[in-house]
Amino acid sequence: MERTLVILKPSAVRRGLIGKVLTRFEDKGLQIIGMKMVFLSDSVLEVHYVHLKEKPFFKRIKDSMQVSPVVALCLKGVGVVEVVRAMTGPTNGRVAPAGTIRGDYSVSVQENIIHASDSAETAKVEVERFFKEDELFDYPQLMLPNIYANDEY
Ligand code: UDP
Ligand code: MG
Repeated sequence: MERTLVILKPSAVRRGLIGKVLTRFEDKGLQIIGMKMVFLSDSVLEVHYVHLKEKPFFKRIKDSMQVSPVVALCLKGVGVVEVVRAMTGPTNGRVAPAGTIRGDYSVSVQENIIHASDSAETAKVEVERFFKEDELFDYPQLMLPNIYANDEY
């Protein structure tokens, strides 16, 4: 089964939305296999957001991600990368549809509540960036037969 990385950004932590966002993933039927609070260093952010490093607003993004610790999550499920991106919604919270996490909880491009890996390849790299193998837990998801058909997983 696939894994993906989610980061509950300072906009979620400071606004007290950790529980609400976690509940969405639990309610959806995704399994949390890793979770920790971390402070993101300059060097981690420079790698994590390397595609934005040359942008004039890179420092603003970096500062925003260091306003508080964040919560890193590793979620597991069938097609979980795509499922979580759909739940996340577009980058800009002002245009993200209602029903998505960004659409329901944000009105900003930068302060948009969560990060979610954007492809299976990125997810693999990003999960390894934030979690050591012994920080990820392989435990039975007891409701699996009620979450998927037996030929889906
Ligand atoms: N971001 C921003 N301004 C922009 C583009 C991105 O502030 O014009 C921030 C925003 O917080 C976004 C993050 O940088 O979530 C990473 O950008 P990316 O294009 O990867 O968007 P995402 O994958 O998060 O939707
Ligand atoms: Mg991205």
